[in-house]
Amino acid sequence: MIIAIASGKGGTGKTTVAVNLVLSVPDAQYLDCDVEEPNGHLFLHPDLQTRHPVTVPLPQINEQLCTRCGRCAEACEFNALAVTRQRVRVFPDLCHGCGVCSYVCPEPGAITEIERRIGEVAVGRIPNGDGGGIDFVQGTLDVREVVAVPVIKAVKRHADTRRTVILDAAPGTACPMVQTVRGADYCLLVTEPTPFGLNDLQLAVGVARALGVPCGVVLNRCDIGDDAVAEYCRQEMISILLEIPFERELAVAYSQGIPWVQASPVYRERFHALHQAIRQEVAR
Ligand code: SF4
Ligand code: SF4
Repeated sequence: MIIAIASGKGGTGKTTVAVNLVLSVPDAQYLDCDVEEPNGHLFLHPDLQTRHPVTVPLPQINEQLCTRCGRCAEACEFNALAVTRQRVRVFPDLCHGCGVCSYVCPEPGAITEIERRIGEVAVGRIPNGDGGGIDFVQGTLDVREVVAVPVIKAVKRHADTRRTVILDAAPGTACPMVQTVRGADYCLLVTEPTPFGLNDLQLAVGVARALGVPCGVVLNRCDIGDDAVAEYCRQEMISILLEIPFERELAVAYSQGIPWVQASPVYRERFHALHQAIRQEVAR
């Protein structure tokens, strides 16, 4: 089963929920798809064993063979090419490596491709003391790079679907979140009971539904704010699977990088129950 943990906005506790959930599931796998700011490692302390570069194909123009016909720039959805009378300019930061320009170019050899590094995937284990542990995979987008999706795809290729795979998505509802949630069996949306939390939850629910992924909610800091999120979930028939109050004990554990399930037996039980609830939702 693949469970994506997402949120319409940052700062809701998405990674905290993902980390505690993965520690509550036997034989789980944690994939950090928040490649612009992966921070699950701060709580899970993995032993990273291998690192693999992530590259995308970047077009190279042979000006001797190019006729400046402009078809490549017309076809590029990302405005990564500009054709002038003198030359074709490639903007590497905008290029998604889709290969369309090479495909449409009518002049053989005018466009070739080189591999350009944009990030890396690190793979390791979270040891549990008895020789076993949890598989840990983390994507990191290189500094100054802007196209996160190929790195997320590279992380997801490590998913072992015989196990429970926890995907920690980027916050928001842009391409990185969409790419992470796409193909998951369930999407757990972490939010808080505030007007911002409601607005961003509505956007995230819209994405999950467009992707055909069933979703449920974790309501963090449930004892602040108002009832609008709970009312929205009732109307939309979305299950609130876990409510987490604003507790000093949890804040202290978080500030020390200690997962709640290791700091509190109560939360060990609650996250175990959350996993069971997700299984029931998927079965339904
Ligand atoms: S499509 Fe090919 S020939 Fe035409 S401008 Fe682009 S690179 Fe040059
Ligand atoms: S590979 Fe795709 S994104 Fe990159 S320049 Fe060519 S058409 Fe544009």
